[in-house]
Amino acid sequence: MSSIFSRIVAGEIPCCKVAEDEKHFAFLDINPVAKGHTLVIPKREVDYIYDLSDEELAALHIFAKKVAEAIKKTIPCRKVGQAVVGLEVPHAHIHLIPINKESDMYFDKEHLQLPIDELSQIANQIAANF
Ligand code: AMP
Repeated sequence: MSSIFSRIVAGEIPCCKVAEDEKHFAFLDINPVAKGHTLVIPKREVDYIYDLSDEELAALHIFAKKVAEAIKKTIPCRKVGQAVVGLEVPHAHIHLIPINKESDMYFDKEHLQLPIDELSQIANQIAANF
């Protein structure tokens, strides 16, 4: 059984896609803690990020860097923060979150409820800056 994220990559489940290359995929988190909250994943399905090979882990971060640059061009923010949690979805992923202060990274606060049209528009803007 494929992870929900593998099914997104396969196009079986819709997402607000931000970027893709041969081995990586980026899309907006459906339950964002901030506008522009993006998930970056390897297409190869591995649960725990540190089970990726050194080369895969490095390549994932290089891809994430390009996505973060596109997010920063799109969403006004001081920095793009990075977090790895992975307790909910067993497919390695990096959270990229536009931040102005430390608490913008907190996952235990109320998440944003953004209409799908707005999520789609944000994803398209980030994609255009990628
Ligand atoms: P965690 O595994 O703890 O890092 O959390 C998984 C993250 O994936 C959460 O922030 C969810 O909102 C997000 N998520 C779960 N399903 C989807 C989906 N279908 N599309 C976009 N984001 C999702």
